[in-house]
Amino acid sequence: MNAELFESEESLFVEVALAKPMRTEFTYAVDPTLRRGVQPGSRVSVPFARGREVGVVVAVHDHTDLPPSKVRRIFEVLDDEPVVGPELLGLTRWLASYYVCSWGEALAAVLPAALKREGHRRKVRMVEVMPGTGAEQLEQLEDKSEKQFRLLRTLMQASGPLLRAEVLKRLGLSPSPLDSLIRRGWVQQTEVEADLDPLTALSEVSGRERPEALSADQAVALEAIETRLAAHSFGCFLLHGVTGSGKTEVYLRAIERALALGRGAIVLVPEIALTPQTVGWFRSRFGHVAVMHSRLTDPQRLAMWRRVQSGELRVVVGARSAIFAPVPNLGVIVVDEEHEPSFKQGSNPRYHARDVAVVRAQREQAICILGSATPSLESYENARQGRYELLALTSRVRDLAMPEISIVDMRHEKGQPMISRVLATFLSEALARKEQAILFLNRRGFSPTLWCSECFHVVRCAQCDMAMTFHRRNGRIACHACCEELRPPTACPTCSAPGLRFLGQGSEKVEDVLVKSFPGARIARMDSDTMLRREDYEETLDAFGRGDIDLLVGTQMIAKGLDFPRVTVVGVISADGGLHLPDLRASERTFQLLAQVSGRAGRADLPGRIVIQTHAPEHAAILHAARHDYTAFADEELLQRRELGYPPYGRLLRVLIEDADLELVQSTANELTAALAAHLDPAQISILGPSEAPMAMVRGRHRMHILLKGSGDTSQFQIARNVLAQAMEAKGRLRIVVDVDPVQML
Ligand code: ADP
Ligand code: ZN
Repeated sequence: MNAELFESEESLFVEVALAKPMRTEFTYAVDPTLRRGVQPGSRVSVPFARGREVGVVVAVHDHTDLPPSKVRRIFEVLDDEPVVGPELLGLTRWLASYYVCSWGEALAAVLPAALKREGHRRKVRMVEVMPGTGAEQLEQLEDKSEKQFRLLRTLMQASGPLLRAEVLKRLGLSPSPLDSLIRRGWVQQTEVEADLDPLTALSEVSGRERPEALSADQAVALEAIETRLAAHSFGCFLLHGVTGSGKTEVYLRAIERALALGRGAIVLVPEIALTPQTVGWFRSRFGHVAVMHSRLTDPQRLAMWRRVQSGELRVVVGARSAIFAPVPNLGVIVVDEEHEPSFKQGSNPRYHARDVAVVRAQREQAICILGSATPSLESYENARQGRYELLALTSRVRDLAMPEISIVDMRHEKGQPMISRVLATFLSEALARKEQAILFLNRRGFSPTLWCSECFHVVRCAQCDMAMTFHRRNGRIACHACCEELRPPTACPTCSAPGLRFLGQGSEKVEDVLVKSFPGARIARMDSDTMLRREDYEETLDAFGRGDIDLLVGTQMIAKGLDFPRVTVVGVISADGGLHLPDLRASERTFQLLAQVSGRAGRADLPGRIVIQTHAPEHAAILHAARHDYTAFADEELLQRRELGYPPYGRLLRVLIEDADLELVQSTANELTAALAAHLDPAQISILGPSEAPMAMVRGRHRMHILLKGSGDTSQFQIARNVLAQAMEAKGRLRIVVDVDPVQML
């Protein structure tokens, strides 16, 4: 009887992508009652093995070659309208094939988590001041109920309804004063579908004036962009300009133009740069914009997704994953700080949002603007080859001078101080003039090494290939790979000699030294130890902006995007930390970080001074950074890359094999290498390894890796992908990670 149904004219079958590592889609039959609304992009709930899964329909057919007994029926269609449009279906399919995962896994990475489940949408409670409530009511509360007063004042200052839970949390209050206000009829509470974005919840929106005239460079850049936009064709631009050269203004104008043409925009910024300040720039220009970042709750993300999809919000500002925002009629994609490694996703699928941006723009006939003061060598080379159009903003807006950079050779400083005499002098002068300073050290903790001066043993994590860092805050040593914390041993674990020594310096120690050296100064530290919540970050930055902090110490958290006019001194405590990492981009990263940190000073009318402390003053990355000479650095570095066949001249694919069982890791790595070797042409692609990964053990799991290096020949890489995909399906409990275009090798 079933067979009859399947063979009737009205048979309907769907291919469903499920978030499973199997690289195939699954065929299901659709009952006549469910047919309405089943389209590519609809979510369906289907039987799978003995359970129930949510998947996305990727194709609809009227017949199947499978025997009827093999075809199960879908349970339900979950949406009235497809949640994934044809553009995103196509893009995720490309994503899956390029980054080696299943289509379903790619879709799962793209969709808001709330769409991956069945079930109902959650509502949230919002509160706002009743119309008619104002200063009079506020006055009545003053001196009577301090809590209700604060609450009402906060709600009055807000521009719209606020999330109840967040208001209470922010003000540190229990619900009762709020409920009293509601009972008094001064505040109203509504239940809505969660769609408030927490970045605006209680933070002030920092506007930005729209300058009347563009600089000559800006005008040229904008014209090139607008021409392409008007032609409705793909184009990729590399907007190269130092911090303060007016890149953001170019983005804003390009988006204005796109909106005027009825098209939408996506702006990607590194997660850490997604501050209320940045968001405020876009809000003040475009009114409401969608903000997407990792801290949105599931319902918030879903609500945002729907408002973007419906065309209500046409500008999306977000971190990495916002590249998948369902913006209809996309016109512009901006990737700010395009060189940032954080655009690379660290879990499956390991996509690079900048690369996806270019691919997406191409597929949708949009334009892509990659902006940076220190472009990645990949993008720079693409521009040199004419694949991207280079737009240079050569000077700072308003002709601000570039800050003067001094390199201090720490080998010649007497007594190995942490702060050189030059830097100490600059700091004292800045303090005397009531200016501010930023001190940068890209290492948290107090002291990164604990060692025995008798036998030179270094205390390492038992589970990881990593030295333990001492944190004075809690008096413990911590492994920065697995987060294990221990009391430091009092004697050497190897030779039992007493009195282990602390070696090296972390941000905690910098703070400590500053407190001792500048007793009157107000000092704050920003690193992931002190900034546990997003609010901590915002509060510290607010305080710094108000001038309540004189010296700000921090890790790379403070290297980016901060724009404070009274900062006149920036000190890099040590430029050397990243130079010796086993990574082909070590030099590039160091250059970028130094350039970025230098951009933190002299943002307004006060001249800035930068001090870079180093033990390797002749290193190219440091020398060129000190001269603000990106081009010299890039050209030199590219020569070396070319010689070694590294990106951007060659492509890399990394396979990481991990397990607690070392022998299993070794044998799998060997088998996999042999399988690759059997299929690949050694003249076109070289197989390096298998070898121990630079971090040979993490959380008790041994790690080996294989690197494939080849020129642009994609067919060879495609063969490699197929071999690896098969291995991944058959791997059993072992973990095999395939990283296409890896950005780090640890
Ligand atoms: P970037 O993004 O390259 O760091 P911004 O676009 O943030 O640079 O510009 C730096 C500063 O210069 C901002 O305060 C901005 O408001 C201002 N600015 C940008 N373009 C102009 C212009 N054409 N005229 C005057 N001020 C400008
Ligand atoms: Zn560890």
